[in-house]
Amino acid sequence: MRTIIEHSREIPVVAEADVAVCGGGPGGFPAAIAAARHGAKTILIERYGFMGGLATAGLVAPILGHTAHESNIPIVEGILREVTERLHALGCAPSWEEALSEWGIRFDAEALKVVIDEMCQEAGVELLLHTLVTDVVKDGDSIAAVIVENKSGRQAVAGKVFVDATGDADVAYRAGAPTTHGRAFDSRNQAMGSFFHLAGFEPLDQRRVQELYKLIRHEMEKGRLHFYNKGFLNCNAYHTDHTSANMTRAGGDPTLVTDLVRAEISVRRNVWELVRYLRAEVPGFENCYVQQTSFQIGPRESRQIVGLYALTGDDIRNGAKFEDAIARGSWWIDIHCPLGNTYPVHLCVAECPEGADCPYWAAEHENMCSQRELFPPKGDWYDIPYRCLLSVAIPNLLSSGRCISATHEGMAGARVMGTCVAIGQAAGTAAALAVAEGVSPADINISQLRELIRKDGQLV
Ligand SMILES: Cc1cc2nc3c(=O)[nH]c(=O)nc-3n(C[C@H](O)[C@H](O)[C@H](O)COP(=O)(O)OP(=O)(O)OC[C@H]3O[C@@H](n4cnc5c(N)ncnc54)[C@H](O)[C@@H]3O)c2cc1C
Repeated sequence: MRTIIEHSREIPVVAEADVAVCGGGPGGFPAAIAAARHGAKTILIERYGFMGGLATAGLVAPILGHTAHESNIPIVEGILREVTERLHALGCAPSWEEALSEWGIRFDAEALKVVIDEMCQEAGVELLLHTLVTDVVKDGDSIAAVIVENKSGRQAVAGKVFVDATGDADVAYRAGAPTTHGRAFDSRNQAMGSFFHLAGFEPLDQRRVQELYKLIRHEMEKGRLHFYNKGFLNCNAYHTDHTSANMTRAGGDPTLVTDLVRAEISVRRNVWELVRYLRAEVPGFENCYVQQTSFQIGPRESRQIVGLYALTGDDIRNGAKFEDAIARGSWWIDIHCPLGNTYPVHLCVAECPEGADCPYWAAEHENMCSQRELFPPKGDWYDIPYRCLLSVAIPNLLSSGRCISATHEGMAGARVMGTCVAIGQAAGTAAALAVAEGVSPADINISQLRELIRKDGQLV
């Protein structure tokens, strides 16, 4: 077996790939599938034993960004549509046509795991699960290999093109490429959050739901319950025998382990405060239980690459179109207050009720968006330019998902899973094209890339 020298140590090279995709979330698995379908020898490296990223490990649902703003016109199809149709065939998502009339694609996270397994295996992607990317070995400016750790030890995966789909731009960062972090003013990122599933209570009519929401809001106002919204009965996932609520939040930096630990403990505590309260004081909830909390706290934002272009809030608001468009987004500038559990503050906007009590607001309110400036035009979308995927520093690195190049405001829209899947499909196609042509990703023919993406059913 070939070895590679890392800090004077010999590391076994366990795979020699054309395309190595790091991270198997919404930005990663479509990249691997697309690269493999286009003939590249592709490996996907994922730290967990399953893929899906926050869609599975975070229980995040529904998949947003599949239609134009406030419209049922699709803007993302391709691999996202295939995934939805396979989930539908398993009874775990609506049909594609039904999904178009909903604000997001509801789905079952367990079924998504097996759908992604099957699609990767059918495409011929080599899977290196249970494996954390920890470092890189460079050859000049390029990445020669990523260093990984798993139960078999420390290993290297060599590749021609690397796709950083770790969400946190781990590969770019380890390679010494410039990255940004959160908002420009103080580098704070959006709050982290989690989902949980509650079960063990009888179905409720709308009147009772509204009464219960009033109760919960009252307890939040009193400071007994700690959430950023009251929606504990929301069903964001597909099955309705349990809830799927997105109401916890924790401030902190998802690239600092101390903040991750604090966030995990805090959101679990908040969920159990609710369960204890419901059991003790709300008739009908005596036997309610937490079916599951998400496997990991979810970062909404962390590091992003510095690319050849950074998507901006103005691009979102104006529905910007670009000649090198490789994906479309429609989600809005949805910035969760970085401080975390700040009820009644939800979004970081000019109208924040904290006003000058918040140092960020005091310094930046003239540059902040107001509520009415957060959205793309009705029925429209914004393009994601290919340049957002290209690192300024590493010629054989593409970024995908929520670590592409964007400002804090730009990422607040582009981060949703429908958009990440579309970006991932484009990143994988570009990587395979670069390998086939023997050029770096920045030098591929963009018209040819767009043509390939279109042929594969994607809308660009
Ligand atoms: C609380 C919350 C609510 C949200 N709500 C919605 C919503 O309703 N709808 C929506 O569409 N989007 C929502 N989002 C956003 C969306 O979930 C994410 O932006 C999206 O999942 C990003 O996809 P990704 O692939 O870039 O990153 P991730 O989903 O984070 O996936 C990254 C993958 O890389 C792996 N990985 C990371 N580092 C390494 C490493 N060093 N080595 C190996 N593997 C690694 C991870 O295990 C993971 O599988 C929400 C996010 C949060 C946190």
